[in-house]
Amino acid sequence: MSKVVGLIGYPLGHSISAHFQQAAFDYLGLDIRYEAWEAGPDQVQAVVAGLRLPARLGANVTIPYKETVVPFLDELDELAQQIGAVNTIVNRGGRLVGYNTDVSAFLRALGKDGNFDPVGKQATILGAGGAARAASFGLVRAGVRALTIVNRTLERAETLAARLKPLLSDVVAISWENAGLKEALSASDLVVNCTSVGMKHSATEGESPLDVALIPKQALVYDVVYNPVETPLLRKAKQAGTRTLGGLAMLVYQGAAAFELWTEREAPLDIMFKAASETLRQ
Ligand code: NAP
Repeated sequence: MSKVVGLIGYPLGHSISAHFQQAAFDYLGLDIRYEAWEAGPDQVQAVVAGLRLPARLGANVTIPYKETVVPFLDELDELAQQIGAVNTIVNRGGRLVGYNTDVSAFLRALGKDGNFDPVGKQATILGAGGAARAASFGLVRAGVRALTIVNRTLERAETLAARLKPLLSDVVAISWENAGLKEALSASDLVVNCTSVGMKHSATEGESPLDVALIPKQALVYDVVYNPVETPLLRKAKQAGTRTLGGLAMLVYQGAAAFELWTEREAPLDIMFKAASETLRQ
């Protein structure tokens, strides 16, 4: 029987997951189709319930439903439970199990592609949405010493910091206007952009969340935004002489981890990277 997986989110117009997942299924000769399941808020529960059908292997979940789907599942793995967000659902014989592969993907890219070990380091995270949640829990689990979370909506950063506090005492939440921002950045070994600022097709396309003057030279600047591949922030960081890492590796690694959960086969990473890069170049 042909199997199906899909992406649940809204809107899905700019997602590239279908391209690199389908390329991987096809490369391994697996009879699996990757579909886009764009769902309004009143449709999400039914779409998730439909994953129990025998032909459905599971799904990816993206903006804005990573938290929404949690109560619709039968089980969560430990990490998804801890961070309260799911980006991958697996249908295990009619039982739906939720995972979060963003965290391991964030860390894998940081280590493998960014050559950065978080142990004992100070980090600043820009943003407090879903990506920031994955990045901050990942960094805390990986042993950072101190974390500053910067967000436009301060309350959202404070909520995230409060969830991290039991795991790390040195975590602070500030707004962009806070005078402490400059100091936090200049003391950081790692700066991660988890805002959508600079993302293609968004209202802030072409903009950078930080000016060159604020970018610390000694740090690694990691932008999880993957479209465009070279974001305005990465361009400015290069101008500042700072080491950089883009979001493409994280995107492919989170997809590869989901692929392995659905198929129990090793993901063909080279094929996925190639397909993702080609799609982004179009
Ligand atoms: P989200 O939950 O909607 O959060 C968006 C974040 O961006 C919030 O912190 C928001 O601040 C901030 N923001 C948006 N517009 C802003 C502006 N004009 N000025 C300042 N801050 C602004 O989205 P998300 O899921 O975290 O995704 C964020 C970005 O990461 C997206 O570009 C997404 O594509 C990317 N991402 C990449 C990967 C990957 O695998 N590479 C994985 C996940 C996400 P407020 O709270 O104040 O609104």
